[in-house]
Amino acid sequence: MAPHKQRLTILGSTGSVGVSTLDVVARHRDKFEVVTLTARSRTDVLFRQCLEFKPRMAVVLESAAASELQRQVSQAGLNCEVRCGVEALEEAASLPGVDTVMAAIVGIAGLRPTLAAARAGKKVLLANKESLVTAGAVLMDAVRVSGATLLPIDSEHNAIFQALPRGYAAPGASGVRRILLTASGGPFRSATPRQLEQVTPDEACAHPNWAMGRKISVDSATMMNKGLEVIEAHWLFDASPDCIEVVIHPESVVHSLVEYIDGSVMAQLGNPDMRTPIAFALGFPERIAAGVEYLDLARVGALHFERPDTQRFPCLRLAYEALAAGGTAPTVLNAANEVAVAQFLAGALGFQQIPALIEAVLSEIPSRPVSSLGDVLAADGIARECAGDWLRRARPRRQAAAS
Ligand code: NAD
Ligand code: MG
Repeated sequence: MAPHKQRLTILGSTGSVGVSTLDVVARHRDKFEVVTLTARSRTDVLFRQCLEFKPRMAVVLESAAASELQRQVSQAGLNCEVRCGVEALEEAASLPGVDTVMAAIVGIAGLRPTLAAARAGKKVLLANKESLVTAGAVLMDAVRVSGATLLPIDSEHNAIFQALPRGYAAPGASGVRRILLTASGGPFRSATPRQLEQVTPDEACAHPNWAMGRKISVDSATMMNKGLEVIEAHWLFDASPDCIEVVIHPESVVHSLVEYIDGSVMAQLGNPDMRTPIAFALGFPERIAAGVEYLDLARVGALHFERPDTQRFPCLRLAYEALAAGGTAPTVLNAANEVAVAQFLAGALGFQQIPALIEAVLSEIPSRPVSSLGDVLAADGIARECAGDWLRRARPRRQAAAS
């Protein structure tokens, strides 16, 4: 009898993480079968993926994109059901015939399908950090209730998972003292405040070490990415904020570390290539080849570390504050950040106004307790409205300053 293949749904298959996932899958056709692929709207890429991986279902967000994909799929004679909408994404994530779900949609848009996968007890490979940031309590609860396996794809959290004795362990338990999250510092690590004022979207998206989607690239440049990752680590590893420290490491070779009470510090190293954490999680508990270039330490030569500067990069401070406030505060932080980053990428907001908008929204909306997905989505909606108001107030000021 042929060995059972792991059956996969890849949410966000056309993005940076989605494409890297399919790259690893293509190296192990004997181990994996792609059941569902999903994307927002890039039907050209999704169609090519359908031709190569022959999924049984493909889901896009909007109906116009679904019609276009349906036409291509029919013309090619593929046996692939084309669906659209958020409910179809949730269904793709919870299909009985699926073992493993790669959650690689960007933003809170990934929350509902990721939660559906967790509730259905799947092996969930979590790249979509925003779902833990916005709904950590709800998602972790769903994992506990269903018995789902949650494996971090974010390279730092994947490193911590590997450096902990049995994967998940709270600091205090198993002698863990601290979690050290490394951060590259992004493209503007040494920029002056004046230089930061002038940053353009293309400059912000040119990350020195990682090729990623545009939203996370901007998050890396503002250091909000590390802030979101602090909150992500809190939920994944049950770690209090004072046990999570950020250290700048420009080479992105040490992906993160765990410090133990006896003074030992365990790290995971590797070239900065997402296929390593993806292959780790896909193969877990076994190791499989990832197609990455192996690390040549002599060629790297030196590794550097420094403390983060929250004066120039206030987003990191704002994320710690939101985590300390608890309840809906991280959801509000995330929503304000998503609005600010989209505005920045559209050329409608300055780089330095990103933290200004987030801070204003956080200070206007009091944190409320979270006990359901509804609480999370309500807080997200209120924060987006509040960010919209801030933008309407700020725009005349920006226009006056420009003229
Ligand atoms: P990306 O922008 O390259 O891809 C996003 C994917 O999500 C695409 O397939 C897109 O079609 C889909 N998508 C976007 N909006 C959607 C919506 N509203 N509904 C349904 N699908 C939608 O992003 P990425 O860089 O691959 O990042 C994906 C996630 O992984 C993010 O949460 C990011 O923080 C996290 N992550 C990425 C990296 C990386 O190296 N790129 C590393 C660590 C974590
Ligand atoms: Mg990361």
